[in-house]
Amino acid sequence: MTLPVAVTRCIDQLKAEHEGPLCAYVYDLLALEQHIKAMREVLPDNCELFYAAKANPEARVLKTLAPWVDGFEAASGGELAWLHEQCPDEPLIFGGPGKLDRELDIAMQYSVSAFHVESVTELRSLARIARQRGVRAALMLRLNLKLTQAPQSRLVMGGKPTPFGLDEQGLASALQLLREEPSLELKGLHFHMLSHQLDVDAHLALIRSYFLTFRQLCVDHDLQLPVLNVGGGMGINYQNPAQSFDWPRFCQGLKGLVDEFGMGATRIRFEIGRFISAACGYYVMQVLDIKSSHGEFFAIGRGGTHHFRTPAAQDHNHPFTVMRGTNPPQISGQDVTLVGQLCTPKDVLARQQPVAQLAIGDLLVFSLAGAYAWNISHQNFLMHEPPLKVFIDG
Ligand SMILES: *Cc1c(COP(=O)(O)O)cnc(C)c1O
Repeated sequence: MTLPVAVTRCIDQLKAEHEGPLCAYVYDLLALEQHIKAMREVLPDNCELFYAAKANPEARVLKTLAPWVDGFEAASGGELAWLHEQCPDEPLIFGGPGKLDRELDIAMQYSVSAFHVESVTELRSLARIARQRGVRAALMLRLNLKLTQAPQSRLVMGGKPTPFGLDEQGLASALQLLREEPSLELKGLHFHMLSHQLDVDAHLALIRSYFLTFRQLCVDHDLQLPVLNVGGGMGINYQNPAQSFDWPRFCQGLKGLVDEFGMGATRIRFEIGRFISAACGYYVMQVLDIKSSHGEFFAIGRGGTHHFRTPAAQDHNHPFTVMRGTNPPQISGQDVTLVGQLCTPKDVLARQQPVAQLAIGDLLVFSLAGAYAWNISHQNFLMHEPPLKVFIDG
């Protein structure tokens, strides 16, 4: 992969300014802004775009996105408090399993736009707390139903037994409770059944079955629901970013489905994480050592999977670029395994990858490190220093 000029310039500057081997996260906020604007531009009129903050809740990332999104999705009480603090004027929606009563109560104080209810127990707690506060809680029911189109991707969390959402039986109990409970206001239905979706046609087929199910449930239960939340899950192809989810083509197909199913008066809400923030982030490790072990080369970089767990979590070779320094190459045209400083053989960022040239002091720049990267890493393991964190903002 070739790096954007702004990114290499920023890394060169970091290297010049900081003593010692470099280890840093670089976030290109200008690229992030361009990306979210482009996503927004092709989205059909009745659609809303929320950012699922768990992908990357960096304050600067949130603030860059805020003007271009309809709001943020919090997947925990902690995220909710953070989002409220960082972006107090943005609409918030609150999902995630195992919400505490205290968190539900705080969310009511924050006037969240919608609670995403994951279970009947949670619905009862929400009703009780809303009654105590004398307010009506706006909510969406998260559903895990057997659909006509089974979700298909590397990570599926619906249409089969999972801890998330309500199945057919749970939905029936929830609707019964909603009929008897004036402190609850059902705003819509919520589906988030998969992540890592790369296939636009498969995803359109899934959206089609969400539309069918939504319409059918509204008829069967005499519901008028203004919102359908269709989740996130658009994927990044880490091996070939050019083959990542084709958002413009998806939006074109989506418009066709909205027309075909007469969904124009319903607000279709997306809550997307990875596809929004993955591409803006870079993780940089300076090479500390190069060695050969039983015939294979290893390059040890400053940092590792305790900062950047993505390749270990996804079990993939993460794409990287070498920024050469001035030392003569120790490896030329050979395969090398890129590892970090941890005392575990699992600390691998890419295995046996070809490099043209590599020397101690060179920089390894891992791209697509802006989502599920720093914040999913076991940062305190071995007590190494944290990476620098820099933002390209013009
Ligand atoms: C994680 C999550 C998302 C975002 O998923 P991405 O794959 O990052 O787009 C959206 N909705 C829910 C309920 C989630 O748990």
